[in-house]
Order: sequence, then C-alpha cells, then structure tokens
Amino acid sequence: MSDRSTIEWTDATWNPVRGCTKISPGCTHCYAETFAERFRGVPGHPYEQGFDLRLVPEKLAEPLRWHTPKMVFVNSMSDLFHEDVPDDYILAVVRVMQLANWHTYQVLTKRSERMRDLLQTKLKLAADQPHIWWGVSVENRKHGLSRIDHLCAAPARIRFLSIEPLLEDLGPINLEGISWVIAGGESGAGARPMKKGWVLAIRDQCYKAGVPFFFKQWGGVRKKQAGRKIDGKTYDEFLSRVEQPVMETRRRLAAIAKITTLYPSPSTESEPDLFSAQR
Ligand code: SF4
Repeated sequence: MSDRSTIEWTDATWNPVRGCTKISPGCTHCYAETFAERFRGVPGHPYEQGFDLRLVPEKLAEPLRWHTPKMVFVNSMSDLFHEDVPDDYILAVVRVMQLANWHTYQVLTKRSERMRDLLQTKLKLAADQPHIWWGVSVENRKHGLSRIDHLCAAPARIRFLSIEPLLEDLGPINLEGISWVIAGGESGAGARPMKKGWVLAIRDQCYKAGVPFFFKQWGGVRKKQAGRKIDGKTYDEFLSRVEQPVMETRRRLAAIAKITTLYPSPSTESEPDLFSAQR
C-alpha cells in the first residue's frame, strides 16, 4: 500500500491482496476493515470495493521498485493465506520477496494451518530465507496458541509472534524456535482492555527464553496517552535484519517487466506458475 508506514514495527506496507474476512475474536475491530469500508463505492479509489477480498496484481512488483532496503509488512490490509487467495498467487508474492531480497519481509497470518502446509510444500524454498520472517497473530488461548503450534511445525527459518490485540492471559507460551515477539493492546473506539499482568507474563517468558520483545502499546481509546512504556521502560527489541545488495537497476527493471507481463493488471483470471516460469 505504501512505502512508509506508521506501524511501529515496520517501515513500509505492501498489499498485493486487499480485503479479508473475519476468522477469530482478534478480528472484531479490524483496522483494515474500518479503513477499507470508508471508501466503498468511491469510484477509482483502491478500496472502491470496500473490504471485499481481491487480488491486486498491479502491486506485485512494488518491492522491486523500492531501491532502498526496507522492513516490509506484507498484506497489512489482508491475510496472504486467506482461503480465497489461490496458491499460485501466493507463490508469485513469495517469488517477488525472493527476488527483491534487499528488503526484509514480515508475513503475518491468522490462517496458520495453510501457511504451515505451504511452507512444507510449495513454499519450501522460501521458508529458509533469512530475509523473510513468518509470523502468526495471537490474541487469546483458544485461537492463538494453536497458531503458535502450526508456526513451529512449519520449516520456517525466522518465526515471530504478533500478540495483539492481547485479550486475556495466555498462560505458558511455547517460545521454542520463535525469534521475535511483538505484544500490544487494542486501540480505538470500543477497545477491549488489556491487563498489565498479561503483558508482564509474556515479557518475562521472552526474557527467560532469550527472545527479543517489542511492546507496541497499551492501547485503549486514548492510545497516545496510555503510551508504550512498561514501568517507565520502552521495549523496542528487534531481530537483526540481514543485509543483501540491491539488485542492479537493469536487472531490476527486467524483473519488474517480467512480473508485469506474467500478472497483467487488472486480469487475474489465469494464474501462471511463476516458479516454473523462472526456471
Ligand atoms: S485476519 Fe487480519 S485482516 Fe483479516 S479480518 Fe482478521 S484482523 Fe482483519
């Protein structure tokens, strides 16, 4: 969507898919839905179709156009592993991440079973890439803890958790093989409250396991006032990124042209296999 982001833990957002459907209590006040629905019916607006899911092939090559390395949140306005996104399209998104490897990508999902299954099969080659971080959202015990198990079962090299909006005490969390944890409370109108003890329990488990901990916010209706300090301390721990050279301009333009040819806008009817096309 943008080469800048106000999200505290990323630099840019990239939305080759727009729109989604709700799957668990963490989705109740989905910011992406609220944003997208504001523009439903506005002719020519990227969210003219509101939050209805659609593929956006004209956005596929975007990271190849950014020649400064960035931390990129993939599909901040959707869920890459949503059941209505074809496997071949997911492969194309991942292929772009492999090509534009001077960026670091944060792929976050609530559809953790599909992500696990694809990382074990069609996405196996990408699973091991150090510049692609695979994460799951965790909001409560019932829906969130099983997602951690699915993530751990995936052969991902870098795994992370986004524990927000935190809706209850999670109890013991399996942090084995987890490289980074983000936590935070819900913000905005109708925000559900988060107790300090729930956050401390996560922070302490991260410390014990040696996992970097990033505390995004307390949230609430006045999130700026509530801030993001825990007992006067800001937790901004991050995982270090790998540095890889930016592709030379001529090759970059050729890659953009190839992707644009394989996925012309706006047709998404035939979905070529980009992996085979590259061989
Ligand atoms: S999965 Fe994410 S994008 Fe989709 S509805 Fe839930 S919160 Fe919104």
